[in-house]
Amino acid sequence: MLLAIDIGGTKIAAAWVENGQVIERRQQPMATDPVGFMEVIGQLVLGWPAPEQVAVAATGYINDGKVHSVNQEIIAFWDGFPLADRLTERFACPLILMNDGQAAAWGEYQARQTTVSQNSPDNLLFITLSTGVGGGLVLDRQLRIGPHGLAGHVGHTTVSCQPTDDDLRCGCGRQSCLEKIASGTALGRQASAMFGRTMSSAELFSLALTDPRAEAIIDNAAKAVAEAISNLHMTLDLSEIVIGGSVGLADGMLHRIRLALANAPNLMQVPVSAAMLGPDAGLIGIMQLATNVENSVENSVENS
Ligand SMILES: [Zn+2]
Repeated sequence: MLLAIDIGGTKIAAAWVENGQVIERRQQPMATDPVGFMEVIGQLVLGWPAPEQVAVAATGYINDGKVHSVNQEIIAFWDGFPLADRLTERFACPLILMNDGQAAAWGEYQARQTTVSQNSPDNLLFITLSTGVGGGLVLDRQLRIGPHGLAGHVGHTTVSCQPTDDDLRCGCGRQSCLEKIASGTALGRQASAMFGRTMSSAELFSLALTDPRAEAIIDNAAKAVAEAISNLHMTLDLSEIVIGGSVGLADGMLHRIRLALANAPNLMQVPVSAAMLGPDAGLIGIMQLATNVENSVENSVENS
């Protein structure tokens, strides 16, 4: 039995996997402290057989089995939390651990190898617009992790577009990050400031159907994503951009990003598609990596 776990900013998903097939999938809200976190893990696997292997995709960057939030406002206790050690103690079996955007990039890359007969991309950037903004890179058919585990953290590259509430300071310590304008958290914050009441990004998308001010916040975020895409395309020369995450997959978001990108010079445009694996790109990507590690990863964290 393979246990696959995807840890995001607001939820944890777990899958019981046998021979590459998901037997059961469960989800719980993410905890806010280490003790609560291990309790949630216990609840997720309740009644499942002991795993022979654990595969974990987690938000934050991972260095030497420890996980760190780039933006401390997302998961405060992700400050060097020894995630690999804690889970190895809990399950006493081999474990693979990787950033969720990186795992999702690999999942989306693999999905395009098997289902797209022509033009399967050798150079793919996955961008997740979710609680935060993350991502992953496949370059020359290799998943890029990087010596510090940072590769693909596009949310903390800067853009010239400004948030509609002019709140520029990101939780990473920088100003004008993409995450500060285009994450679900950022959309909710900008909506709350504009409409004078607490709003989530989901409420903003609903309101955008009838209120042009709500639509303008989303359009501005899409413009920021398109700006980041052009910057990264000119840096890396990409074949395809894949958009995932709850905000990225929200109704109309992909269309808005494509419209914004169409205003860039031709050279700075690149095909943009939706995540084929939907919200489970990270979970499926880490499952695939766990079963095929030696062929795919330049440098991953493995404990056994
Ligand atoms: Zn930042």
